[in-house]
Amino acid sequence: MSSLAAEMPLDALDWIPRPKLAPLRRLGLATLGDLIRHFPHRYEDRRIFDRFPDGPSDIPLCLFGEVKKTSYRRFGPRRIFEIRLEEEDAHVLSQPLTCRWYNMPWVQKMIAGGQRIVLFGKPRLRNNQVVMEHPDFEVIEDDAGRSIHFDRITPIHPAGDGVTPRLLRILIYRAISETDLATLPLLWPCGSGIAPDVWRAIHFPESDEAREDARLQLVREEFFGLQIVLCARHSAVRSSRGMSRRGTGEHQAKVLAALPFELTASQREVIAEISADLASPFRMNRLLQGDVGSGKTLVALCAMLQTAEAGWQAALMAPTQILAEQHYLNFRRILDPLGIPVALRTSARTEESPGGPPLIIGTHALLFEKSGFENLGLVVIDEQHKFGVLQRSRLIARGDAPDVLVMTATPIPRTITQTLYGDLDVSVLREKPAGRGRVVTAVRDSSKLPDIIKFLREKLAEGRQAYVVYPLIDESEKRETKAATIEFEKWRELLAPATVGLVHGRLDSAAKEDVMRRFREGEISVLVATTVIEVGVDVPNACIMLIEDAGSFGLSQIHQLRGRIGRGPEKSYCVLLHSGATGPALEKLTTLEKTSDGFEIAEADLRLRGPGDLLGTAQTGLPPLRLGNLLQDGALMTAAREAAQAILRDDPDLAAPEHRDLKRFVEKSAAALAAADG
Ligand code: ADP
Ligand code: MG
Repeated sequence: MSSLAAEMPLDALDWIPRPKLAPLRRLGLATLGDLIRHFPHRYEDRRIFDRFPDGPSDIPLCLFGEVKKTSYRRFGPRRIFEIRLEEEDAHVLSQPLTCRWYNMPWVQKMIAGGQRIVLFGKPRLRNNQVVMEHPDFEVIEDDAGRSIHFDRITPIHPAGDGVTPRLLRILIYRAISETDLATLPLLWPCGSGIAPDVWRAIHFPESDEAREDARLQLVREEFFGLQIVLCARHSAVRSSRGMSRRGTGEHQAKVLAALPFELTASQREVIAEISADLASPFRMNRLLQGDVGSGKTLVALCAMLQTAEAGWQAALMAPTQILAEQHYLNFRRILDPLGIPVALRTSARTEESPGGPPLIIGTHALLFEKSGFENLGLVVIDEQHKFGVLQRSRLIARGDAPDVLVMTATPIPRTITQTLYGDLDVSVLREKPAGRGRVVTAVRDSSKLPDIIKFLREKLAEGRQAYVVYPLIDESEKRETKAATIEFEKWRELLAPATVGLVHGRLDSAAKEDVMRRFREGEISVLVATTVIEVGVDVPNACIMLIEDAGSFGLSQIHQLRGRIGRGPEKSYCVLLHSGATGPALEKLTTLEKTSDGFEIAEADLRLRGPGDLLGTAQTGLPPLRLGNLLQDGALMTAAREAAQAILRDDPDLAAPEHRDLKRFVEKSAAALAAADG
């Protein structure tokens, strides 16, 4: 009997337990269709179980056994519930297993002696005994529904709020059999739709292959949903009226003539792309990607000059005070002799310029203030991969409708670019300016520190400067300040008589800027720092960087840090210190010895750490990805993007009747974005 429509609300069905209706709704499940689209987050193969473990394991095991004994103890404030489990077909060699739950009184109510249960978790060694702590578990009952839960690849659905995975499995099983699956709304109107078997196979697969086939079909749809939202936003901005800012070329010509170097071919190409965007009557919404040191600032300056020539203000926004100050100094060095005014506006310090400020440098925070700009024509956002969809949409919503250029030095793999920046046009700076010294990277055990210090002293004696970077151990203010002080004292002693400075996140901005200035001017030779120097800092004479406890940083982050050196003509050295790292941890670091290609490193990072780090908050305001994996399914993302673009090309407003569902979906996500913005 598969005759119910997917929109059927759950409260109209008598087989949904009444007390569970509200918790289901809180999980986002209000209709039959919602249940069917509630995909498992993992599966347990309950046809063949793992053997009971005789040692600890980092890979979770799926076990099946009979509860022989239960006990409950209090140990001070702790309540400990413990069970002894025996393997199904126990033999002389099999060991019973102990499982423990701390302070989870409800578990005790769910498990009793004699029951047979499935467990999922990692065995640990505690006092020489193999135990599982807080494993996932499910009591297997010999009821009519047993075949849903056992002897099969069993789905585990995201659960909570008193709704167990077991209950969800029962409800979803029934929903699939009673719903007319052809009535499930589909976003992707091309192709032949999704066969009923696919829905069944994603929840209750007959085999791993069948599950993967089903997943791929549904990922296509999921990615398409994401892309139609991004591309619709892109085309809305694209077609929204902006201003044509042509410029006279006068300022730009002066600046370029005064530079001590030639633009790279890449810079010239990208400057032309941006210039055309500015001149067009539509809004610019562009991402500029370029590895550290590729010369993005100059590209930004050219865009800002064109905007100013056309009679508008242009603002460059940096993520930190240090960077804002640095850009300001840089710009003034170039612009003062040409008589082009530039202003600095940060919460800590303001420097206005005579004759009104066509060019403004500030920090990101200033962007969202109502006042401060008279006729803003261009906003450049520097070094920001955390400047996500939400922040951009706020910017776009500004009444004055400026053109927007986002610059990032974090090389982003293509699939991620399509996801995070799918609403932007993309320009890439592919080459770096010539004449840079090589950066040699070496991974060293901290036992080699004395040799490294000797080398460091020699270089300092030659007049070079160095960074020492240490990881932030703790976010708390007290501890950070303490850690910083200890590090600082240590290095001052080790490197005396060289002058050592300290900069970390808890310094106020005047103090930070003071230390940076002294470092820039060579008064300080060694800068001990946290990752506050990660982005943008530019001191060409600094050609050594020591990174302590390098293993605690991500690869891309180290690459960013390393970008601070190798800016002058000398050979530079980056030393990655670790204490006794081996295996994958060591291998990870040696990647950096082998390559200095930011994209290659970003890909490696993505493989090691998954996309979570890159996505994170940057994805706020986009439909969530439940089945798709940006690492494995990159080609599907590209295909989905092309399909979405094709549809919008013919029907930019999704006005055609066959696009009604799509339009609704896009509007829903726009509403979610507005809600996230609160
Ligand atoms: P990033 O892309 O990391 O922001 P910057 O814009 O800070 O890089 O540029 C790094 C350094 O390279 C700066 O000192 C800048 O003056 C210099 N630079 C920029 N373009 C060129 C070029 N075409 N040739 C030589 N040096 C350049
Ligand atoms: Mg920069």
